[in-house]
Amino acid sequence: MTHYDVIVLGGGTMGIAAAWELAKRGRRALVLEQFSLVHDRGAHSGNTRVFRHAYAEGPDYIPLVMRADQLWMDLEAETKTTMLHRVGGLELAAPGYVHARRAKDSAVQYGLDFQWLTPAEIRAVWPMIHVPDDWEAGFGAGAGFLDVEPALHAMIRCAKARRGRAAGKHASARLGCVIARRLGQDERRTIRCGCCDRGRLGRPRA
Ligand SMILES: Cc1cc2nc3c(=O)[nH]c(=O)nc-3n(C[C@H](O)[C@H](O)[C@H](O)COP(=O)(O)OP(=O)(O)OC[C@H]3O[C@@H](n4cnc5c(N)ncnc54)[C@H](O)[C@@H]3O)c2cc1C
Repeated sequence: MTHYDVIVLGGGTMGIAAAWELAKRGRRALVLEQFSLVHDRGAHSGNTRVFRHAYAEGPDYIPLVMRADQLWMDLEAETKTTMLHRVGGLELAAPGYVHARRAKDSAVQYGLDFQWLTPAEIRAVWPMIHVPDDWEAGFGAGAGFLDVEPALHAMIRCAKARRGRAAGKHASARLGCVIARRLGQDERRTIRCGCCDRGRLGRPRA
């Protein structure tokens, strides 16, 4: 029976990223996914995702997004592929619209490059955008978009590549595994996925 250090349930954005990180740390990870690794029915599905640093949702996100930024750069360096396109992000602020203004407050708190622009400044740079006189905007130069599928496939490749570098320590995946049962207190030692090892994946080492 094969033993794993960690079993990751769900091989979407978070699961694949977790497998990559575990492989970097020399941990043996198994990803269980009901469909394929990267498919068209997940939150990760689609071509692109916006990536920005100034978070209206709260400044607490900024250390996390800065760490994510570093990890995307690590992934690009390791795979020699550009996935994060820093085209800049313009967030328009209509009167009474607080989202962009909250993003600005977060950016100020962390000293991020997030320029606050008047309508005239917006029109000067982007004349194709018809901005009313009472609108403003925030511009994050480091923001942009991520190529989702290439990024996820790159993380999978990097996780698997650790196999050669750290013998026996790598990430692998089993597909078509539907995790049917929530793991309760008394089920911690057995994971049932309905198709692996006749429904039983073995017991984690103590
Ligand atoms: C339309 C849309 C637009 C978005 N835009 C942005 C954006 O611009 N910028 C941004 O930062 N974020 C954006 N997000 C959010 C971001 O994409 C998600 O937060 C992220 O992809 C979530 O990753 P996840 O691993 O939690 O989910 P997923 O990528 O969906 O992964 C979960 C995986 O678990 C598997 N799974 C679920 N249940 C089971 C089971 N019982 N057994 C086996 N496998 C199972 C699923 O099949 C799936 O593959 C957007 C999300 C959506 C939907």
